[in-house]
Amino acid sequence: MRPFDCIVNGDATPFELNGGGRFTLSRQDFVPAYVKAFEEGVLHERAQQAIEALRSCRVCPRDCEIDRFNNKIGVCKSGRLARVASAFPHFGEEDCLRGWNGSGTIFFGWCNLRCVFCQNFETSQFGEGAEVTACELAQIMLDLQRIGCHNINFVTPEHVVPRFQTMGPRALPKISRGQRLR
Ligand code: SF4
Repeated sequence: MRPFDCIVNGDATPFELNGGGRFTLSRQDFVPAYVKAFEEGVLHERAQQAIEALRSCRVCPRDCEIDRFNNKIGVCKSGRLARVASAFPHFGEEDCLRGWNGSGTIFFGWCNLRCVFCQNFETSQFGEGAEVTACELAQIMLDLQRIGCHNINFVTPEHVVPRFQTMGPRALPKISRGQRLR
C-alpha cells in the first residue's frame, strides 16, 4: 500500500479513487447533511423556510417571483407540489451509476429549462405525470431502495428542490421505526 492509500470498510482504496483521502470517506465517518440537520432539530425549520420561499419563487435563476405556494405558475409551469412522471431502475446510465440493479431514476414533470434537444419533452414541456406529496415522494425513493437500486437519480429536479427539503422531517422518524410512509 502506498503512503496515501486508505482503508474504507475494510478494503484498501487505491490512491486514484480516494485522492489521498479527499474523495472517499469511510462509511462510519459519513453522516449525511440531512441526518445531521434532523438530529440537530433544524430540519423541520429549514423545510418550512423552503416551502415559504415558494410564495415568491426564486428557486432557479429565472427568478419568476410568483406565488407557487398558491399554485401560481411561472416559467417552469410547476406549482406547489412536484409531479412525478415515472420512477424505475434505469439501466441506460453509465456503468458506474447503473451497477447491476439499475439507477433509481425519478422523472419529474415540467422543467425550468427550454433545451431544444430535450429527449424527454413530453415530461419536461407537457408535464406528464401526477402530483405527489412529500411523503409519497419519499416512499417512491424507499421503494427504489428496497428493490436494490444503487442510488437515487433525479431527472430534472431544480424546480422541485423545495419538495425534497420537506421530505426529511416527515420521512426520517418513520424510516427509523421501519414504517411505510403512506
Ligand atoms: S423554479 Fe420555476 S417558478 Fe421558480 S424561478 Fe424557476 S422557473 Fe420560475
